[in-house]
This record gives sequence, C-alpha cells and structure tokens, in this order.
Amino acid sequence: MTSSASSTSKRVAIITGAADGIGRGIALRLAKDGLDLGLFDLPRSQQKLEQLAEEIKNEFGVRVVNVYGDVSKEEDVKRLVDTVVQELGSLWAMIANAGISINRVLHETPTEELDKVLNVNFKGTFFCYKYAAIQLIKQGKGGRILGASSIAAKKGLPEQTVYSGTKFAIRGMTQCAAMDYGKYGITVNSYAPGVIETPLMDYLDEYHTSQTGQPKGSWTKSFENACVLGRLGKPEDVAKLVSFLVSDDAAFITGQSYLVDGGICFD
Ligand code: NAD
Repeated sequence: MTSSASSTSKRVAIITGAADGIGRGIALRLAKDGLDLGLFDLPRSQQKLEQLAEEIKNEFGVRVVNVYGDVSKEEDVKRLVDTVVQELGSLWAMIANAGISINRVLHETPTEELDKVLNVNFKGTFFCYKYAAIQLIKQGKGGRILGASSIAAKKGLPEQTVYSGTKFAIRGMTQCAAMDYGKYGITVNSYAPGVIETPLMDYLDEYHTSQTGQPKGSWTKSFENACVLGRLGKPEDVAKLVSFLVSDDAAFITGQSYLVDGGICFD
C-alpha cells in the first residue's frame, strides 16, 4: 500500500496541523514516500514545526516549506496554498488534517466552544478543500484532497455532539467534493481514525479523568478493550492509509471515509 517513489518524487503535499499528532506522522510518512511538503500549523507551534522540517530534510532529503496561520481564517489558507506553490512549484495533495475537539453533553456546551470547533473543523476543512481545488483545477493534472473525519463521523458518541457533528459534516463534504471534482481527475477522501495516541487524546483524557477522579490516562486506556486488536492507534497507523490514498494506487477511490480504528466500529 505504498506509492512508488518514481511516480511521486516531484509531487507536493500540504499537511495542516503538521506540528503534532497525526499530522506529524503523515508528514514523516509522505516525506519517506518522496513527496516535497508544505507544512502548516498555528504560530504557537513554530518551534515544533521547525524541528520537524529539519528532521525531514536531513532524513529524507525532500524539500519542506513551513507556513504559519489558522485554518479557520480563509486568507491564511489561501496564503498557505499560494506560498507552497510559489516555493515548491505545484500541488498534488492537500491533507486537511488540523482539527480540535471538545467533549461536553449538548446542553452544557458553551456557544463560544461550539463556534470554535465549527470554525476550525468545518470551515477550516472547507477552506483547505476550496483552495486546493482551485489550484489543482488550474494545473489540470488531477490530484488528491484528503480530510480528517473520525470514528465519530460514522456513529454518534456520548458527549461529542459538536465534534461528531463537524466530523459527519467533513464526511458529507468529502462525498460532495468527490462528485464535483471527479471530472478533473481529483479524488477526495477522508481518513476516520478511532483512538490514536496524540496530544488531542491527552487533552480529552485530562477532561474526563478530572470529572471522574480516575487516574490520568485511564480514560484513553479504556478504549483498548473496545478495540478488537487490543491496542490504541499510533499516528503511523493513520499515515499508512494516507500514504496509500495519496498514491497512484488509489486513483480509482473517491468519496470514501476510511476507518483506521483497530476494529472498534464496523462499516
Ligand atoms: P492534535 O491536537 O494532537 O494535533 C493537531 C495539530 O493541529 C496541532 O499541531 C495543532 O497546533 C494544530 N492545529 C489546531 N488548530 C489549528 C488551526 N486552527 N490551524 C492550524 N493548525 C491547527 O490532534 P490529532 O489527534 O493529531 O488530530 C488530527 C486530526 O485527526 C484532527 O482533525 C482530529 O479531529 C482527527 N482525529 C483524531 C483522532 C485521535 O484519536 N487522535 C481520532 C479521530 C479523528
């Protein structure tokens, strides 16, 4: 399930939310596959992103451009695509990975948190799809657009009304965009992780364990039993699927949202 180095060696992928977690794992994997990279994250993640870019350049010898901003701001996403195309010459794949979560019962969700999650997850993914599509259509050589949905885009989960709502929306957006862009040879898919060990899960674990008084880490660990493979996922597990979806081998796949969850939820 890997792309051939020769067919992708001049290709460029943008990854949002690349400084940490799943985005970081995807950046390392696509660099190993030979793609040049445009990495994007919030300005507060500058140090982490710079370290990652150095690591990637030294280990894989590909070109890397770092851009900072906020995916929920349209002008930042437009600047991201423009900068990467200017510096690296073209675009092949947009990985709209950045996302945030809040776990709350519906009626206890503050409206400002609702707006924040909608802005980053829904609008942020929309802007990434939009400016990638504009660029890929202009180039006329096809391409790949990928979003980050979730196991919470397949089934509702307790205390995840807002998060799950945005992830179902990303799955829907992915299906619609696949229909709009098929005629340009652009495929649009999303990955739907289960429970992957990242700072996002640490943040959610902290909230839940502080509510119940259970030891730190116990909320996340409880998902090991829910998963038929008996372990939590790692960013590399998701990155392997992304590597395949970005490659030529996935040319006939579009409009799909693939679970990577070790067998928690069966489609
Ligand atoms: P994470 O919090 O560990 O890392 C997210 C990265 O995105 C961070 O570097 C952060 O700085 C960046 N980011 C956050 N808001 C941003 C913004 N507005 N603009 C630009 N960058 C921003 O998250 P993760 O666990 O790696 O999740 C990555 C994606 O996968 C998210 O969309 C998430 O919803 C999805 N997902 C994760 C899991 C999981 O178990 N970790 C499960 C399902 C889906």
